[in-house]
Amino acid sequence: MLYDNHGRIINYLRLAVTDRCNLRCQYCMPEEGIDYVPRSDLLTYEEIERVITLFAQMGIHKIRITGGEPFLRKGLVDCIRRINEIKGVQSIHLTTNGTLIRDIIPSFHSMGVRSVNLSLDSQDPERFKKITRRDDHEKVMESLTLLIEHDIPTKINMVVMNDQNVEDIFPMLELTKHLPVSVRFLEEMPFNGIGKHSEMTLWNHLKILETIREKHPALYPIDNAPNSTSVNYKIPGYEGSFGIIASYSRLFCGTCNRIRLTPTGVLKTCLYDGGVFNIKDLIRNGASNDDLATALLSALGSRAKDGKEAELLRASQFINESMATIGG
Ligand code: SAM
Ligand code: SF4
Repeated sequence: MLYDNHGRIINYLRLAVTDRCNLRCQYCMPEEGIDYVPRSDLLTYEEIERVITLFAQMGIHKIRITGGEPFLRKGLVDCIRRINEIKGVQSIHLTTNGTLIRDIIPSFHSMGVRSVNLSLDSQDPERFKKITRRDDHEKVMESLTLLIEHDIPTKINMVVMNDQNVEDIFPMLELTKHLPVSVRFLEEMPFNGIGKHSEMTLWNHLKILETIREKHPALYPIDNAPNSTSVNYKIPGYEGSFGIIASYSRLFCGTCNRIRLTPTGVLKTCLYDGGVFNIKDLIRNGASNDDLATALLSALGSRAKDGKEAELLRASQFINESMATIGG
């Protein structure tokens, strides 16, 4: 098993396979002027599979594929199938905007995909368009229907933003009335790619919960999965559940079991750190598996205790990354 210097078990890798996206969610990316990394700077599938094979031997058993929009990357389905064959990989999960998966959903079970996190910030097509700057609401709703039809455990991620989609909190909750989904309300984080952050914490976890409780006073807490980032609740009589993720307040760091690899191979031991080392550079400079393992162990040996400390220790205090380049 892998441990960090705070005694936390590390068994979960979030892998961003691309920084490209077909949407332009306001909280994640600017509308224009994005410098995508050249394809030659991306970890190749061969490199990804080598790293996962090694990490799985070391104790990483859960893999989440994210991005950018992961399904923009050609060949991903075959890569996921190969990851599913790697010894030690116990489960594969996806985070996607749902616009490109309609035809792939029926294959998810055979690909080894255990669950999907689907981003949906509004059920109102106009507000969806305003937030994502694209007119793809219908496609996402169709994917949601198909995910449920194919029995893929699904969580819906909604970033709650002042003046943008607060009115969507209740319609989104209503989705859980008859559907077996979990809707998770996320605090907005500063990773919008432009470095301008205003009123970010106005809709924090407390305000979200209180707003919901006013209308649903009988809501009750349910068990959280180990290492869960969301605090979860149910409304009596509703089939699904909802969760609140204090992603900006960072209340879940004490049980954090994850590391991240960005599309270019930067290993992060915390969402808020500036990156610890670049595994692609090591590989392309001829590193052996022992060298890669040593680099990972050393990174975990000096891991920040939480996201606040990681942010303080960043080389640059100015956060202007896009979540798409980190892997949300
Ligand atoms: N494109 C895919 C998607 O949207 O699901 C995967 C990548 S996206 C970066 C992963 C998750 O990060 C999404 O659920 C998105 O809502 C969330 N996210 C992106 N930027 C964020 C921000 N600034 N604050 C909070 N969550 C954010
Ligand atoms: Fe694209 Fe996901 Fe970022 Fe939206 S949140 S711009 S869908 S990467």
